Amino acid sequence: MKKTDWICPLCGAALTEEDGALRCPGGHSFDKARQGYCHLLPVQQKHAKNPGDNRDMVQARRRFLQTGGYAPFAEKLRELVTDALRGKENPLLLDVGCGEGYYTGFLYDGLQKEKIPARVAGFDISKEAVRLAAGRYKGISFAVASSFAIPVADGACDCVTEVFSPLVPEEFRRVTAPGGTLILAVPGPRHLWELKEVLYDAPYENERKDTFFDGFTFVGREEVRTRLTLDTPQVIHDLFAMTPYYWKTGEEGSRRLQALPELETEIAFDFLVYRREEDPP
Ligand SMILES: [Zn+2]
Repeated sequence: MKKTDWICPLCGAALTEEDGALRCPGGHSFDKARQGYCHLLPVQQKHAKNPGDNRDMVQARRRFLQTGGYAPFAEKLRELVTDALRGKENPLLLDVGCGEGYYTGFLYDGLQKEKIPARVAGFDISKEAVRLAAGRYKGISFAVASSFAIPVADGACDCVTEVFSPLVPEEFRRVTAPGGTLILAVPGPRHLWELKEVLYDAPYENERKDTFFDGFTFVGREEVRTRLTLDTPQVIHDLFAMTPYYWKTGEEGSRRLQALPELETEIAFDFLVYRREEDPP
């Protein structure tokens, strides 16, 4: 029997692993998939048959991220995470809404290189995404799960990261240990500006706001701004498919974008860093 970092999504008890399945003392059991992830999303937490990004979206995302176009963001996140976990004893990093695992894998490698003995876990509501993540990035625990009911024990995480996925502050607060770090990535004001100029007649900037959450102290904001050349219609499409505009843009805007042989655009992420406060006595 092996300890895991997951809890039972039905009763909240710790899950242990034995013979290719995760089990709780209450008799609930969750099979591990061939790729090594487990499915911890009970039917009552599913709001669609196959929630989250579908196979085409997940594959577009993987193709784009493998070009290294967002590597400057991954590197900044790695720096923030290694700073947060250095010196902690056997810490746990949780990547919320991990998608196909690009950032999770990058963070895992960074921690290994820095010889920080962290356990790394990631989950996403999209089974397609988690399947791809678990297939490529080894040494990390992956699960299909919901951000609204994170299958991790109270105070278990020393660092929680979240890149552009649903924000559930009360769950983040519950799973983060006092003194632990929460790192959120949000789009900067002019993220993908030139792409938006192709799609919309009058694009608007993303709002820049400092967000505060109960139980967390805001530590600071790290801005990463750079320019990116998308040099084929395929890579333009793949990046577009990762954005919320993909679903919102009218046909005319999408056609204009599809007709471009290449596109240079600003890309901008802001990382918001928070420290989990001690619970009141
Ligand atoms: Zn159970």
